[in-house]
Amino acid sequence: MANDLHRRLEAWLRYGDELGLGPFYRDRARTTLHTVPADASSGTQPPEPGPLPVSVSGPLAAVPSLFDGVESVPNDSLERIRTDLGDCTRCRLHRSRTKIVFGTGNPRAELVFVGEGPGHDEDQQGEPFVGRAGQLLTQMIEAMGLSRSDVYICNVVKCRPPENRTPARDEIATCAPFLLRQLAVIRPRVIVCLGAVAAQTLLGFSASISRLRGQWYDYRGARLLATYHPAYLLRNPSAKVEVWSDLKQVMAALGLKPPPPRPRQRR
Ligand code: SF4
Repeated sequence: MANDLHRRLEAWLRYGDELGLGPFYRDRARTTLHTVPADASSGTQPPEPGPLPVSVSGPLAAVPSLFDGVESVPNDSLERIRTDLGDCTRCRLHRSRTKIVFGTGNPRAELVFVGEGPGHDEDQQGEPFVGRAGQLLTQMIEAMGLSRSDVYICNVVKCRPPENRTPARDEIATCAPFLLRQLAVIRPRVIVCLGAVAAQTLLGFSASISRLRGQWYDYRGARLLATYHPAYLLRNPSAKVEVWSDLKQVMAALGLKPPPPRPRQRR
């Protein structure tokens, strides 16, 4: 077990070093491994994870995070994070954006949804998940008996990638610390990652979303579950069954009951 842990730790350190994200240090208070997802266009691939644990606390508690410490801002608040972000030009995504999409919803939400990045409508309006995929997310939230104002919704990167491409590793590495600070301030009980980028960023696994979804992970004391992104559901409606099964797990974790079915309209 110890050898396996050392092997994985060594591999992660090498990977972080290749990305230029060091130096690293031990912090026993952390419970989760964080990194940025693999970029297929580069030769640098993260090590293959072993079997996915339901929780990464326990034996992995001393494994350092690639983002360790970034969210440790004393007396932090969402307002302060937004102020610190400013008119951000920290990565190249600022060049083509219209508006920064910071996040929206209940600052004390028990449930936070994390997506990948803003699309066209979000970029125009400065709000996350307001386009077609956003409308589907709203329906999913309402099917859980909640409204958008009950939850908090945000993304890994806060500016729209051109042509809605997947954000690059260095863009994620630059922007994700603000997301981590948001999560540290809100302290939700449950985080739902919408799609692979959000799950890989928070969990540090390079596995596909179909492998990551549907099971619980520990994210710094919160329960984290990954599921398909609503944009994927627009292209693959049959996957809604799996997403609803995932969301029912979230409802059970939060003690939520689905709203009663609406009465049928008489003709
Ligand atoms: S994506 Fe994030 S880091 Fe990059 S410019 Fe926008 S706010 Fe700044």
